[in-house]
Formats: sequence, C-alpha cells, structure tokens
Amino acid sequence: MRRGRFAPTPSGDMHLGNAKIALLSWLQIRAAGGQFILRIEDIDIQRSRPEITERIIIDLKWLGLDWDEGPEAGCSYGPYWQSERLELYHEALVKLQAKHRLYPCYCSRAELLAVAGAPHGLASEGTAYAGTCRFLSEAERIEKAKSKTPSLRFALGEDATSFEDGIFGPQSFPPGSGGDFIVRRADGMYSYQLAVTIDDALMGITDVLRGADLLDSTPRQLQLYQVLELTPPTFAHAPLLLGEDGHRLAKRHGDLSISALRTAGARPEAIIGWIAYICGIISKPEPVQASDLVSSFSLHSIKHQPFI
Ligand code: GLU
Repeated sequence: MRRGRFAPTPSGDMHLGNAKIALLSWLQIRAAGGQFILRIEDIDIQRSRPEITERIIIDLKWLGLDWDEGPEAGCSYGPYWQSERLELYHEALVKLQAKHRLYPCYCSRAELLAVAGAPHGLASEGTAYAGTCRFLSEAERIEKAKSKTPSLRFALGEDATSFEDGIFGPQSFPPGSGGDFIVRRADGMYSYQLAVTIDDALMGITDVLRGADLLDSTPRQLQLYQVLELTPPTFAHAPLLLGEDGHRLAKRHGDLSISALRTAGARPEAIIGWIAYICGIISKPEPVQASDLVSSFSLHSIKHQPFI
C-alpha cells in the first residue's frame, strides 16, 4: 500500500506554496489508491503554535484534502504530532551512537560563521559544517565539555549519495555534501533531519513529496536510512512558488495565507484551480475540486518552473 504524508511545521500559517505541496502529495497518493497521513512537525516547540496547527487543519479540510489516520477518518490513531514522539527519536539516537556515527560538537554559532571561507564554508545559516569537532581528541572533548553542552552531529559517510527524484530526475550529491549535520541540538531538541527520517520510516511512508527547498536534505536523510537499516521512500521535490520579489513564499507574505483567503470569503475551488493551473495539471485557471483532479493526475506532468 502506497503511503504519503503532509508534514507542516506550525510556526506560520499555511500559504499558497504549502497548499501546493499538500495538494500535490495528496493527489499523488489518492491517484495511487494509497493512504495519506497528516503529521504536525512541532518538534521545535518554541517556534510552534497550537493555534496555527488548528488553522492548518481547518484549511486542509476546507481545501478538500483529507487524511486517513485520525478521528475525521474514524480512526483511533493519528494525526501525528512530533512533540509526542520524542522517545522514538531518542531510540534512533542511541542506535546511531552504537554505530559510532555521532560526535559532540562544541562550536558556537559565532565560531561556525567564523569558519566561513573554509572548504565548504558559507557565511550564512545553513552553512556546511567544516567538521571542526569531528576529530577532537578525547582530552579536548573533556576540556570543552567543562564549559559547554554539545550538540550531536551525524558523521557523513564517504560515498556520494544518489537518488531519482520524481520531479527533478537523477540527483547526485558528492561525499560530505552539506557537512556533518546536527541530530540533537545543545538544548536537547532533536533535529528536523532525524525526526523526519524516523517518522517517515516508522509511519511506513513510501512516497515523500515536498518542496524543492528540502532537496539537499534528502541525501542526509538517505544516509540516516542506510545507517539505521531502514527502507527509504521515493522522493519528489516540487518547485517552490515565488513571490513578486523573487523569493519563495513565506510568512512575510501573510496575506497569501490560506486562512486569510478563507476568512476573506475565497472559494476553495478557486484556490485549488489556480494551483492546479500553475502546476500544469489543468490547462485553464478555473475552479475545480481537489477530488476531481485525482483520476487524471500524473507526477510527470508537474511543471518545473517556479512562478506565481
Ligand atoms: N515540516 C517541513 C515544512 O513544513 C516539511 C518536512 C518534509 O516534508 O520533509 O517545511
């Protein structure tokens, strides 16, 4: 049975770009007769807000995008909240530790930025980690641990990582791509990379469809699947919607949020129709219900150009 998911982070309202991802992943699974689940990625409890989760759930229902696990589907389990699954992430961490693939990292944010210019270094957040703490001696670790609680990083393997993207085609990332990444932050919070991998694996997800901004997360997650001996899903990354300023839609484009459109009296069919049109699913921008798109949907017809 094919299984897909929509996995929003409830730190900002769902906007048209998120609705596009929700629609495409829902269509992919519904067209395959599979099961679709909703997972609220609220692992970053400081940034997540329950009222946003509530609005996302209302928005999805309003758009006609349903899910199979949860009271709405007459099911006693689901939808899922990452904040309730910390034990599972901990277990994965223990396994990674047993395989000697984790190491403590004592670098501060300032230190990470200071190594910009080092191989793979970029002076921005999301900088590829240069590996500074990977080869610390035990004595150095003991010394550093006196003044700082470390984060934990996953040590990337030595092979290139390749996969076939359902929309962008063959992808290959050189060894060490992106640098060793954090699996648990210094404040004890598990990282997106770890949580999403464990969840997709344990929830039996076979098809991941998400935004192209996460394309370079996929090789990292594939390494976690490999080391944890889990079966990876197939991946497809959809082009992002861009705002007029050429940047991807985000919270600052607040008036494009689905809940704002909903409360302003927009019709869900108009929004679905517009998204379907810009994705190349229908040839004219006309109102349509999501369920009417299922029978003719094919991932291969998704247009590549990001535009609004
Ligand atoms: N929670 C992520 C987001 O809202 C999506 C994660 C994923 O699909 O892997 O951007």
